[in-house]
Amino acid sequence: MEYFSLQTNVNQLRIGRDVSKGIGNELGNYVVATMEIPWNIIKKSIGKSPTHIINVTSVEMNWIDQEIKKIPEFDTIVGIGGGMAIDVAKYIAWKLNKKLVSIPTILSVDAFTTPAAGVRVNHDVQYLGHSSPDPLIIDYNLLRSAPKELNIAGVGDLFSIHTASFDWKYANSKGKSEYPYKEEALLGGEKILEFIYNNIGNIRENNDNGLRAIVEAYISLNTICLPIDHFRIEEGSEHYLFYELEERLKRPFIHGNIIGLGIYLMSRLQNNKPDFITEIMNESNLSYHPKHMNIQKDSLQESLLSLKKYVKAKDKLWYTIIDDSEIDNDWVSENLINLIF
Ligand SMILES: [Zn+2]
Repeated sequence: MEYFSLQTNVNQLRIGRDVSKGIGNELGNYVVATMEIPWNIIKKSIGKSPTHIINVTSVEMNWIDQEIKKIPEFDTIVGIGGGMAIDVAKYIAWKLNKKLVSIPTILSVDAFTTPAAGVRVNHDVQYLGHSSPDPLIIDYNLLRSAPKELNIAGVGDLFSIHTASFDWKYANSKGKSEYPYKEEALLGGEKILEFIYNNIGNIRENNDNGLRAIVEAYISLNTICLPIDHFRIEEGSEHYLFYELEERLKRPFIHGNIIGLGIYLMSRLQNNKPDFITEIMNESNLSYHPKHMNIQKDSLQESLLSLKKYVKAKDKLWYTIIDDSEIDNDWVSENLINLIF
């Protein structure tokens, strides 16, 4: 077991095999936000039981607020699961000012290392509050009890640096950047990408080094993004396609996979080394094809054709390649040709 003191929102990181075992014994009255599958895996080894379990089925703010009313007196909220469970725990920790413990059981999204909770208000994403896990628990064996592809999905929010950083540079070149342009932040992002490219084999295998690489890369990303107070090097047009699809289809996705689809398409729209990033995504075994996410061809076609209108209607979305794009039927048919439906 190793302990780290970190210069990010993560107060303490425990990383190693079986480090989640008996965590319940260290906590007072605690409540768990989780889902059926991860809870069934961890409940026997958690030690002392929680006083209340929230079975997370939604990240809609109204839904979480209703769940909060059912919680008895407690002092710690423990998020156990993927992005949704962790986001619900983060929101509750912030709203009720309680201690937060995060135990991701898959690495499909960077939610466990970011301070704001990504909740939805009428299917529209909102990032709320500020929370810090203490500790963040990365248990290699627990992560490996999930299907490999759910951890591999963790690279989606890292490969997105490829397209998002391009968008920031593009916005800046048009005099449209919402933030002071920081070359240093972009160079830091490039280093993270290189680090991940160098660990692709380990990531694909889900071995200790691969799982650790994803977590370290997320933490490095925070070290760059938290001081400048935005994630523009990591979030751009590839995320906006996901937001459109989520609002259109009204259902959740494995975050890294859908971001991978966004990277595939937006790197093509940007003319930003699409073959290179596609090859890397293939090498990592990231499941970015629409078939894996049950996305029908006509839904994706409509989403792409509406994308520019969608981002223009949302004031809070940053300026990206989409703002100046001409996505028409020809572009769509040409660029969907090698995707699997
Ligand atoms: Zn993301």
